[in-house]
Amino acid sequence: MNAEIIAVGTELLLGQIVNTNSQFLSTELAALGIDVYFQTVVGDNNGRLQQAIEIARSRADIILFTGGIGPTEDDLTKEGLAAALGRQIHIDQMAMDHVQRFFDDRKIVMTENNRKQALMLDGATPLPNEIGLAVGAALEQDGKFYIVLPGPPREMKPMFTDKAKPWLLQHALTNEMPIYSKMLKFAGIGESLLEDKLIDLIRTQTDPTIAPYAKEGEVTVRISTKAPSERDAMVKLDALEKKIQGILPEHMYANIDVPLEQLIVDWMADAGLTLSAAESCTGGLLMESITNIPGSASMFAGGIVCYSNDLKKKLLNVPAAMLEGPEAVGAVSREVAEVLADQVRMIADSDFGLSVTGVAGPGYSERKPVGLVFVGLAERGRKTEVYELNLKGTRENIRLRTVKALLYRLWRRLEERKVETPLEGSALQ
Ligand code: ATP
Ligand code: MG
Repeated sequence: MNAEIIAVGTELLLGQIVNTNSQFLSTELAALGIDVYFQTVVGDNNGRLQQAIEIARSRADIILFTGGIGPTEDDLTKEGLAAALGRQIHIDQMAMDHVQRFFDDRKIVMTENNRKQALMLDGATPLPNEIGLAVGAALEQDGKFYIVLPGPPREMKPMFTDKAKPWLLQHALTNEMPIYSKMLKFAGIGESLLEDKLIDLIRTQTDPTIAPYAKEGEVTVRISTKAPSERDAMVKLDALEKKIQGILPEHMYANIDVPLEQLIVDWMADAGLTLSAAESCTGGLLMESITNIPGSASMFAGGIVCYSNDLKKKLLNVPAAMLEGPEAVGAVSREVAEVLADQVRMIADSDFGLSVTGVAGPGYSERKPVGLVFVGLAERGRKTEVYELNLKGTRENIRLRTVKALLYRLWRRLEERKVETPLEGSALQ
């Protein structure tokens, strides 16, 4: 089965609104195992809508419309579809009662144009609108399936999920096998390098399929397969997961969709380990990502944003000789990163201490290049390690990647301790 989405609305063509409805529907359809081959956008114009329908039904099994089912003159999706399919339209009584009730409840007089929102194609199944007024529609004709949804996302999404999807499953997808997928999560590796390492697998592997994508400094690989049951799917998915983990053992941290900081927080909290941080160029971003995770209070002692050299000296005992004078190594240095990690760990009396000092840009500082960052990892009873990062990108990218890179180092260190991870489905069994 394949589908085409037709988003109707001149605002979309003018660039006044972003077509998030098509994005949502594409994601939902992919999860149902339906291939979306085309997304079309057409303005509020009957002739061009007819053309779009004509083209769509020549190449798709399922055609979904969003937008243009409201009360105004320019809302003409149902009328256009009816004309294209050679069907009549009528007022659906239930939908009309729903519209009428809305006005009665608010004690306002309903204007005549609101009747449009109860229009239904003859022979179609009405899809009730729980949020707004305009009723949606589902119908089959000549082996093709048509779904009409409203434009406002808050109406469209529940109508799709609660009404259209069950209808599709019952009418269009009876012989389709459901699709199952697993999310594999990676850290400490960029998308392109990851793809490079998996390229042979990606090229030769057709079932399950492998789809890597990067988002917010993390790389995710979705592996998916169609199967008659979840058990059958998992046999295939688990085997592929093992293969991928074998290729990237040092980078795959989970086989469920969790951010790295979540894994770390849960793991450390469970093991009774504590953490503190001293941040310069990330300005608290690391602490923000940790404290965003519920449960971090039991493992995160706190930290210091030591942006200025003055504070690095006063609060974290960085020797002035490291920071000042022609011979000084400067704030952005291996030495300072080491002191920061050591000091914050000692002050907080935590098991681990993290530190960041670097040049986030756009301008360079201390005559050091943008993207040069040192991150420190101190651990009670062990020598502190400092890692040099050479990052590319905008200020925002550099800060975000620094946080992820440091979390990655912490995760690797925790893994070395071979502490049982509390998260079910972690890659570390
Ligand atoms: P209404 O009853 O509000 O007129 P409608 O079903 O007729 O709803 P449209 O008139 O086409 O839908 O769009 C109404 C609003 O819904 C738009 O102004 C926009 O905010 C949102 N919208 C429409 N289409 C999309 C889309 N493809 N993606 C995201 N938002 C959309
Ligand atoms: Mg409208």
